[in-house]
Amino acid sequence: MLDIRTIRNRSEEVQQAADQKGINFDVLELIAIDDRRRALLTISETLRAERNKRSDKIKQLMIEHRREEASAERVIAQESLEKLRTVDLELRDVGAEFERLMLLVPNFTSPTTPVGTSDKDNVEVRRTGEQPIFSFQPRNHVEIGQSLDILDLERGVKIGGSRQYVLKNNGLMLHRAVQQLALDLLIELGYTLLDVPIMVKEETLVASGFFPGHRDQTYAIQEEDKWLVGTAEVPLVSYYSGEVLDLTKPMLLGAVSPCYRSEIGSAGRDVHGLYRVHQFAKVEQVVICQADLAQAEAILEQMTANAEKLLQLLELPYRVVAVCTGDMSQKNYKQYDLETWMPSRNSYGETHSASLLLDFQTRRSRIRYRDETGQLQFAYTLNNTMVATPRILIPLLENHQQEDGSIYVPKALRPYMKGQEALR
Ligand code: AMP
Repeated sequence: MLDIRTIRNRSEEVQQAADQKGINFDVLELIAIDDRRRALLTISETLRAERNKRSDKIKQLMIEHRREEASAERVIAQESLEKLRTVDLELRDVGAEFERLMLLVPNFTSPTTPVGTSDKDNVEVRRTGEQPIFSFQPRNHVEIGQSLDILDLERGVKIGGSRQYVLKNNGLMLHRAVQQLALDLLIELGYTLLDVPIMVKEETLVASGFFPGHRDQTYAIQEEDKWLVGTAEVPLVSYYSGEVLDLTKPMLLGAVSPCYRSEIGSAGRDVHGLYRVHQFAKVEQVVICQADLAQAEAILEQMTANAEKLLQLLELPYRVVAVCTGDMSQKNYKQYDLETWMPSRNSYGETHSASLLLDFQTRRSRIRYRDETGQLQFAYTLNNTMVATPRILIPLLENHQQEDGSIYVPKALRPYMKGQEALR
């Protein structure tokens, strides 16, 4: 959420951000509603002050036994009370519309963000690692998973419907191993790790900036005001909602959680295998820091580097792309994606997403700190994937396959894989 004063002062920039992000939003409509809201507030306050003055006057007239004048004043008081009621009713409706539109306002984008309409316009920043050259016919992750008996898509779909899967034995071990490796890295980096609710209230999704935008992507629990989160970013950001924090040092938070996504709008896309599923696990990083752009941008680089470190330990080729305006969500100011090489797709596929949101989330969730002058300020937030699985199993299985059908296990994963050097 942005501040209404900022929106009014920088309305052209707000409209540009909406247009460049492909968000259907009219800043002039919001400003017109705000004008009406302000006018009604003034009328309501004036009528209230008049009513108070008049009721004092009526009391005085009664003390002075000037009953006729008092009853004439009462008639006027009744008329202005009705006027006040009408104004307050309109104010309630206009106020609700104002709140609704405020939740649709997009965040600004960084001047360094490439302008574009889709992920095709993302700009590569750097590449690391070599794409493998196979001296044999490589298989895709589904073929590998089936031949090693570590992945069962058919029974996954039988149990849970489309985009579901079952991981078995070493499949499950790998899934858990990458999560534990990611958590151990976060501990080394000084992150505070939390096990968080993944079933949350609607207000938690609004406060963290996911609703109303992501509503159709989110599974509701029937007959309860509860929703299943698509990322631990939601509970991690909300952990300190409504609080005033000591942000002398940035707050580093991490969590591992199941993630649920309806993937509405993705029909027919990535239907093969483990790329786009309804349920996955993610180790997530969230940082809350002071409203200092230079510091926040440095943290974004660091959080990106944290995920890169994990990919390097997994010995996977990847690239970092600067995400363009049209591929960025409403709440992001600046975003990098990490894309890992997926031989079966013959392309890099998104495995991580690092974002800087400035105070967009904290204004909604009221997370503040005191600056050096003692003034309360809204904090800045950032987030990045540390690892998301089973998607990461695609590059792991496909890049590390060997001619004899086995899968090389990167050294960093072996302690979590009972020391296995290869999966057979
Ligand atoms: P996001 O929270 O949308 O930025 O996604 C973070 C990461 O989660 C992505 O880069 C993917 O690795 C993973 N991910 C997101 N959606 C899905 C999905 N439907 N199925 C599998 N993995 C996903």
